[in-house]
Amino acid sequence: MKFSKILAYMLCVLLLNSCAEEEPVAPARDNNMAMGNPSNAGTDYGNYLLEKPQYTLSYSSYRGIPNWVSWHLNNTWLGEAPRQDDFRADNTLPPAFYKVVSSDYTGSGFDRGHNCPSADRTASNEDNSATFLMTNMIPQAPNNNQRTWANLENYCRKLVDQGNELYIVMGSYGKGGTGSNGFTETLAGGKITVPNRIWKVVVVLPEGTNDVGRVNSNTRVIAIDTPNSTTVNADWSSYRTTVDAIESKTGYDLLSNVTTGVQAVIEAKVDDGPVQ
Ligand code: MN
Ligand code: MN
Repeated sequence: MKFSKILAYMLCVLLLNSCAEEEPVAPARDNNMAMGNPSNAGTDYGNYLLEKPQYTLSYSSYRGIPNWVSWHLNNTWLGEAPRQDDFRADNTLPPAFYKVVSSDYTGSGFDRGHNCPSADRTASNEDNSATFLMTNMIPQAPNNNQRTWANLENYCRKLVDQGNELYIVMGSYGKGGTGSNGFTETLAGGKITVPNRIWKVVVVLPEGTNDVGRVNSNTRVIAIDTPNSTTVNADWSSYRTTVDAIESKTGYDLLSNVTTGVQAVIEAKVDDGPVQ
C-alpha cells in the first residue's frame, strides 16, 4: 500500500512538472472564422458560405461579390511566394450562380479589390493563388484600394511582425461607388453590384492559443468604414468607427463567438491606438 502511495505521489509530481515546463507553443494557422459567422451564412443564395483553407466568406449571388470575408493572420501565413496575379472565376460556386470573371471589371474604373489581400497569403504559391479567385473581389475605387486600404493592410502585417496574430473581417454594403469613370451602380450588365461602403474589423491578440477565449475588454479592435470613392482620404485612421456602428449598418453580429459581455465593451469603443 505504501509503495503504491509513493508511486501515485511520483506520478503527480511528474504531471505537475510537465505542465510547469510546457514549451512555448509554435504559432499555428487558426480557424479563419474563429470569431464567428457574422451573417449566419449557409446555403441562401444571398448569404452563401464558402470555406477555403485560406479564408472564409459569405457570397451574394445577387450582388456578384462577397458580403464579407474573414481570415486569420499570423506569421505562418507569410513567406516568400510571389504575387500569382491569376484572377479567375470561382468554380466552386453552385451551378445556378453566375461566375464573375476577371474581364467583367475591365474598363469599369474600379480595381479588382481583394478582400483577403494577396500579401497576407504568401507562404506558398497555392495560398497566394487562392486570393485571386473572383469571389474574393469587390469593385473598389482605385484610391480606396491602392492608398487607404493598402495602408491599413500594411499596418496589419506590421502588427504581426510585432508578435501579434489577427482576426480580420472585411465587408461591403450599399450600392454605387465613384471610380475613375465616375459614379457607377453595377458592372457586367447588373450582375455585379458596386458597393457604396467598405469596412474592416481587426482583432489584435498577442500570439498564442485559445484565441476567442483570450479576447477581453482590453483587446484592441480596429474598425473602419470607408466610402468607395476616388475622393477617399488615404489616412485609414480618419475612418475609425465602432463595431456596433458597422453592425447596425449591415445587420450582422460581428465577433459573435466572443462572450456578449466582452462584445458589449469592445464593440462600443473607437480605436485610438497607433496607426503605423
Ligand atoms: Mn492563435
Ligand atoms: Mn457583435
